[in-house]
Amino acid sequence: CGIVAYVGHREACPLVLKGLKRLEYRGYDSAGVALMNGNHLEVYKKKGKVVALEQELAGKELHSTIGMGHTRWATHGEPNDINAHPHYSFHRKLAIIHNGIIENYAAIKQALLKKGHTFTSETDTEVLGQFIEDIWENNGGSLEEAVRLALQEVVGAYAIVIMNETDPTQLIAARKGSPLAIGVGENEFFLASDATPIVEYTKDVIYLNDYEVAVIKNGVLTVVTLDNATTTPYVHKVELEL
Ligand code: GLU
Repeated sequence: CGIVAYVGHREACPLVLKGLKRLEYRGYDSAGVALMNGNHLEVYKKKGKVVALEQELAGKELHSTIGMGHTRWATHGEPNDINAHPHYSFHRKLAIIHNGIIENYAAIKQALLKKGHTFTSETDTEVLGQFIEDIWENNGGSLEEAVRLALQEVVGAYAIVIMNETDPTQLIAARKGSPLAIGVGENEFFLASDATPIVEYTKDVIYLNDYEVAVIKNGVLTVVTLDNATTTPYVHKVELEL
């Protein structure tokens, strides 16, 4: 039910955890983060409060200037450590966090099972992550393209963020029906379900529209539609009492 992500020059882990706490008012049953350890995507997740996740992470050397975190309100699969987000894809090339519901996940899962995929969790989210990776591997294009193609097939509501090992400094985000805000700083970007976790860092906030995909790469943000038309996002000046 809450999404926070960061890429820039700061330590992502404490920033993401703090952001998740700011989103706690939205309600949730589990929490998780993904961080980069060099080129290796690492996922930590736990049923319960963000504080429980924080305790698990305490003492670990987690230095990453890119990261994403999620608080889950379970819709598909009971609240437990395995169903918590982020979810790895089948070959672990990417990890995904998701707010919302993929309504046609069962049909997509059936098709992937036929291709020999296996699933770790009971979530609709893991199906979407595997679907994106499968398209990425099979059509030879970019991950961004695979995200667009996959989302063209998806029925439901989503705000998603994806990290991947092929380009460990890249964040890809998309939305339809579930909110996603992007804070634009100087060579740094903050993604969140609403502006609450962002405003202490920047007042420049973009609200992603339905059917838009945001790609943040080498300090540059591009926004395209699912049909790959480039859009010029409107940057709001947000003033919030904290
Ligand atoms: N449908 C997803 C799940 O059950 C995401 C739920 C959410 O919005 O937190 O894992």
